[in-house]
Amino acid sequence: MAKPILLSTPHIGDRELEFVKEAFDTNWIAPVGPHVDAFEQEFCQVVGTSYAAAVSSGTAALHLALKLVGVQAGDEVFCSTLTFIASANPITYLGAKPIFIDSDRTTWNMNPELLRESLDKKAKIGKLPKAVILVHLYGQSADIDPILEACDQYEIPLIEDAAESLGATYKGKSTGTFGKIGIFSFNGNKIITTSGGGMLVSHDRELMEKARFLATQARDRAPHYQHSEIGYNYRLSNILAGIGRGQLQVLEDRINARRHNFEVYQQALGNLPGIEFMPEANFGRATRWLTCLTINSQTFGADREQIRLALAKQQIEARPVWKPLHLQPVFANCDYVDGVVAEYLFNHGLCLPSGSNLIKEELERVISQILEIHQQRTY
Ligand SMILES: *Cc1c(COP(=O)(O)O)cnc(C)c1O
Repeated sequence: MAKPILLSTPHIGDRELEFVKEAFDTNWIAPVGPHVDAFEQEFCQVVGTSYAAAVSSGTAALHLALKLVGVQAGDEVFCSTLTFIASANPITYLGAKPIFIDSDRTTWNMNPELLRESLDKKAKIGKLPKAVILVHLYGQSADIDPILEACDQYEIPLIEDAAESLGATYKGKSTGTFGKIGIFSFNGNKIITTSGGGMLVSHDRELMEKARFLATQARDRAPHYQHSEIGYNYRLSNILAGIGRGQLQVLEDRINARRHNFEVYQQALGNLPGIEFMPEANFGRATRWLTCLTINSQTFGADREQIRLALAKQQIEARPVWKPLHLQPVFANCDYVDGVVAEYLFNHGLCLPSGSNLIKEELERVISQILEIHQQRTY
């Protein structure tokens, strides 16, 4: 049996174990310590922001971000529809309601015009959302400027979900650094990993201090344990922060490797009829966290599911593009704006194995399988 080729697996560098050993040697086995502080500072340098708060997951980071901008029960929050459910779950943790906004075809991310129209409509009836969550999907930045402009006009805080886009840029600056708060994830399948972890970033020092306060059970300044607010146990472990410090050092290598995967796939498959790769918007650098493409079954001769299943038979893991959140059963009662672009991308989109540790032979195996499927096309 051929060795499985997975979608995206952890890729550890040379320094991680050294940092972890240092944590052991100094007995900083706790959700606090020098690696946590250093990871935050080094992360700020890498993405070009002022302040950061390390937490236990991207989901926790988003939960805190929504809380920090004042989202409460009964509020509405706009959110990209084409994304992983973790982008919207924290809205519901706070008793607020998501409203989902469709993508545009050039970025696959939130359509700025739809956002602006929706905000204008909501303003007219005096029911503006409390926040906007903008997702930068698969390593590509959304078109941030018009989105930020629309949010600013109505003084609505923009939260950037950059969980999938660490290292991606928009007009020369890192995604996650434009809105009031940006969040990142270091889950096992992301471009760098701490096994599990997340980060909030902001140019507002007080906000990030408050994030750390809420992430450590909201302890008041007092010698005894005193609490005037409800907090969470969301801080990142010092051991995992050590892994993160090592991973940050190889981020550029990881981006280059993933972009290389994309180029190899595109060169080999880009000319097949009916195959269209996810575009790279001209305003920035996509990391190609995952290589994604859409398949027009009429011209290609097989549909997305046929291709996915044929690859699975050969131990190759490919996945459909995210199922839009407005189609998720759990959000059946939530409003959404348009949705046809996201539905198209879901119905026709496929993510190919994209890990930065894939070797040439593995890429070639994926490619030759897809070429074979095309040759044996059924219609
Ligand atoms: C992975 C991911 C998250 C959640 O991050 P976790 O660290 O897994 O909690 C949030 N949003 C998007 C778009 C993601 O891909």
